[in-house]
Amino acid sequence: MRLKITDIPVMPGDGEENLPALAADILGISPEEISGLEIMRKSLDARRSRPPLFIYAVVVSVSDSIIIPNIKDRRISKAPDLSVPSNHLRKSVLTERRPVVVGSGPAGLFAALFLASAGMPVLLIERGRAVPERIRDVEDFWGRRHFHPESHVHFGEGGAGTFSDGKLTSRVKNPLTAWVKKTFVEMGAPTDILIDAKPHIGTDRLRGVVVQMRRRLQELGCEIRFDAKMTDLIVHQEAVTGIVINGKEEIATDRVILAIGQSADDSYEMLLDRGVRLVPKAFAVGLRVEHPQALINEIQYGPWIGPDLPPAEYVLTARIPTLDRSVYTFCMCPGGRVIGCSAIEKGVITNGMSVSLRDGVFANSAVVVNIRTDDFAGKSFDPLSGLRFRRQWEAGAYDLGGGNYSAPAQRLVDFLRGCLTEGKIKTSYLPGVVSAPLDRALPRFAVEALQKGLTAFNVKMPGFITEEAVLIGVETRTSSPVRIVRGEDGQSVSVRGLFPCGEGAGYAGGIISSALDGIRAAEFLLKSCQ
Ligand SMILES: Cc1cc2nc3c(=O)[nH]c(=O)nc-3n(C[C@H](O)[C@H](O)[C@H](O)COP(=O)(O)OP(=O)(O)OC[C@H]3O[C@@H](n4cnc5c(N)ncnc54)[C@H](O)[C@@H]3O)c2cc1C
Repeated sequence: MRLKITDIPVMPGDGEENLPALAADILGISPEEISGLEIMRKSLDARRSRPPLFIYAVVVSVSDSIIIPNIKDRRISKAPDLSVPSNHLRKSVLTERRPVVVGSGPAGLFAALFLASAGMPVLLIERGRAVPERIRDVEDFWGRRHFHPESHVHFGEGGAGTFSDGKLTSRVKNPLTAWVKKTFVEMGAPTDILIDAKPHIGTDRLRGVVVQMRRRLQELGCEIRFDAKMTDLIVHQEAVTGIVINGKEEIATDRVILAIGQSADDSYEMLLDRGVRLVPKAFAVGLRVEHPQALINEIQYGPWIGPDLPPAEYVLTARIPTLDRSVYTFCMCPGGRVIGCSAIEKGVITNGMSVSLRDGVFANSAVVVNIRTDDFAGKSFDPLSGLRFRRQWEAGAYDLGGGNYSAPAQRLVDFLRGCLTEGKIKTSYLPGVVSAPLDRALPRFAVEALQKGLTAFNVKMPGFITEEAVLIGVETRTSSPVRIVRGEDGQSVSVRGLFPCGEGAGYAGGIISSALDGIRAAEFLLKSCQ
């Protein structure tokens, strides 16, 4: 029999080799009676009030003939079957025309993999470039400030996921999450991601993972084309009949998985023109905050700080009732770096990433305030107004930064006091920062909410407000400000054969949830062929 045991505490520094004995103790049997042990989950319980502990959940194999004395212990349960149902992956369905997947981010890649594994290889098109060329373009931007409009942190092989931090946390409960993570491991991600409560790959390893995924798709018969932008969607009698690539090449198809991410403003415009139903969607904007990692470790671990603990993290939220807003941290990157993520010419956008070792000397996080649709769409309900809203503040940040892709920055204490920062600002930001008044970088209500929120964070996490903390602006690409409305069959409500998915469709956010949404779109597409 296979039994799951949760809540097994292990002191940092103590090895995992003690787990069989600890598990046996909970079961009330001897360690020799355990024939196999698999770690399912590992999390860190680090409260300042007591020494930190790693908490494990494991699955053990025990012969059916052995009686488990403590079987009623609440920590013991029957192990779940986590294998992917075989009909998910081995269903061969024929469609007259090869489906097209648009976009090679997590949603597009997993949609393509799912379809190809089911015997339906696709044409996958990506407007940006393949990983090696893309890395050169992004480094050219960070190093020499040359912006490449079709090849940057958001566009290119692997989508926004490639230069992401590679945190694989998600609130979505879906049995296919295990399959997504297993696929990442098969493509070169560390096996730890299968068990860590807060799995992390790191941008350095993600790049290799993405290239391996491309090879797997090609082996399964998919055709993959880079520098291939869908410039038009051909719609006849409210159904897809084809797409146009780069304004000149027409491809006939009756099924398109649309996984374009949240940064393709021109594609949203084209879709609206073609009668695809879009609506404005709430999102969030704010700034990046950066502290020395050593300081965050000190605050979070207190007296228990030590070499066996990972770089500390935080998650903070504050409700601001007087402004009817929420301020929260988002996408925290311990040991990471703040990066310039411009997605438009003459626009500055911040985000964060880290490498697999998370060994940088800084910790950063987005600090954002919620934006409602009436903040930008007014009564017009114009679906594209959110895109214009964020472009306006991104262009403003570019100007505040001096017009050369430097980001405007200010020490946190100066932002709260309302004075300019004098002297050199220490930050990891690429390509560089200049001192600027960040109260001009965002709408007034957002600035006020952030000031109140940051002050509240310091109550929850004393030491958060410090001379050493720096704010960098602006953080605008938190999630899509547009939703591509889809029906219960996963298709656009206005154009049949169009399967919008991932972050750009407004139904997912983050690597795992976008990948799962891509798989969901693939399942709907398969169903539509039956
Ligand atoms: C710096 C950074 C760090 C991040 N860190 C994390 C993290 O740690 N954890 C996490 O979960 N999430 C993180 N994210 C968010 C995560 O990367 C996204 O949520 C995820 O990539 C969305 O997946 P997607 O497939 O829906 O879209 P995307 O990854 O955005 O991919 C869309 C792709 O479609 C292509 N495309 C667009 N229009 C067209 C067109 N017309 N024709 C052809 N191709 C087109 C684009 O070039 C792009 O490659 C981060 C994002 C950034 C930018």
